[in-house]
Amino acid sequence: MAGPSTRARYWVETLGCPKNAVDSDKVAASLVADGLEPAESAGDADLVVVNTCAFVEAARRESIDTVLALGGARKDGAKLVVTGCLAERYGDELAAALPEADAVVGFAGEGALSSQVAPVTFRPRRRPAGVRDLLELPRATPRAPWAYLKVAEGCDRSCAFCAIPSFRGTQRSRRPDAIVDEARALVTGGVSELVLVAQDLAWYGRDIGEPGSLAPLLCRLDGELAPEGLRRVRLLYLYPSEVHDPLVATMLELDTVVPYFDLSLQHADRALLKRMKRWGSGERFVEMIEGVRAREPDATFRSSFIVGFPGETEPAHDALLQLLETARLDWAGFFPFSPEDGTSAAALDGTVPDALMREWLRECDEVQDPITRGARDALVRAGAEVEVLVDGVDDDTGDALGRTHREAPEIDGVVHLEGAHARLGSVVRAKVIGALGPDLVATPIEVLA
Ligand code: SF4
Repeated sequence: MAGPSTRARYWVETLGCPKNAVDSDKVAASLVADGLEPAESAGDADLVVVNTCAFVEAARRESIDTVLALGGARKDGAKLVVTGCLAERYGDELAAALPEADAVVGFAGEGALSSQVAPVTFRPRRRPAGVRDLLELPRATPRAPWAYLKVAEGCDRSCAFCAIPSFRGTQRSRRPDAIVDEARALVTGGVSELVLVAQDLAWYGRDIGEPGSLAPLLCRLDGELAPEGLRRVRLLYLYPSEVHDPLVATMLELDTVVPYFDLSLQHADRALLKRMKRWGSGERFVEMIEGVRAREPDATFRSSFIVGFPGETEPAHDALLQLLETARLDWAGFFPFSPEDGTSAAALDGTVPDALMREWLRECDEVQDPITRGARDALVRAGAEVEVLVDGVDDDTGDALGRTHREAPEIDGVVHLEGAHARLGSVVRAKVIGALGPDLVATPIEVLA
């Protein structure tokens, strides 16, 4: 019988958005390539990596709290590395402020984290890789029947509130062949839903001289990988000015691409959007959403909004509430404005007082919550039949959990398959019989795959 492994073990803790989750997965793969193996927990690891988020103040605080907590809980001699957006953005200050960390590593070093903390109990073999190299690293073994797939890094826009381009750089799209190869490896490894992510997904391809190449990429994924087991492709983060044909037509035509439109609208008031250096207006957004719904009544819409951007007035806030009432989005998130270092919005006048911002946030929730619940209740009333991709188990009941095209993983609700013990990755046709907040309850009818 083999004795216990003497290989060093790692733990990667991920904060922030799905794009960070992809980076963590690749960091894990690079550590495996360096001879490490995954630990059962952070406390059991020889190397603890915290992949941080720097999006807004609350995310930075959570990242630092996590570094402090895992730094305190690690076993004797274990190394702690801080990486991700916070490390890239505030590397020197962070290294000075966090003596708990053995290394603070920006994006350029993520592909070779083990070499950043030498000497440790393992021998690094890699030299540091750049951001693109990290993107092109192989994935760790998929753990769920769905996976994020990053198609580009960085962003070419300059939205007034956003610091991402200042530390992630301008857009760098991956080559379609590399994306399809990675997608194929994921599908072969058991993934049936791919969630395509990028800072500005519909902008994919411009920097490699191929504007508008998201639609052809979707066609390739569908044509080449549906026969190998790919069932769903979901797109996250579409800048609204890019949501038109042929992208919409392609999304609605391809069987694998779900009609789920994650639009980053941010506000409704045209003047405020202009101040944000964003495209659009409430009227344009409603027109776009209704245009898609007319072609696909089952289309699902999600968006996020910033509340309390400098210069927001009562009439502008009312325009946002009006947009919510009219657009009837399935899902929406509201975020308080926070002035970020290195953004043009940080220097704008017209600061909205905190109390008023909180009041406006509450009003947005009060308008949106019944709309989200109403969309779920409508499925119950109709006794809708849905296709559920099983990707979890309810810890309390043992019932299978899954998602239809209407729910993106980790963001939206889930579907409880009452009394069902289905295999992870299976697809079950089910009838919706109830709603539990954002979640649905459904009775299985048949296993489709
Ligand atoms: S589109 Fe705007 S908000 Fe999104 S990453 Fe780019 S600059 Fe930031």
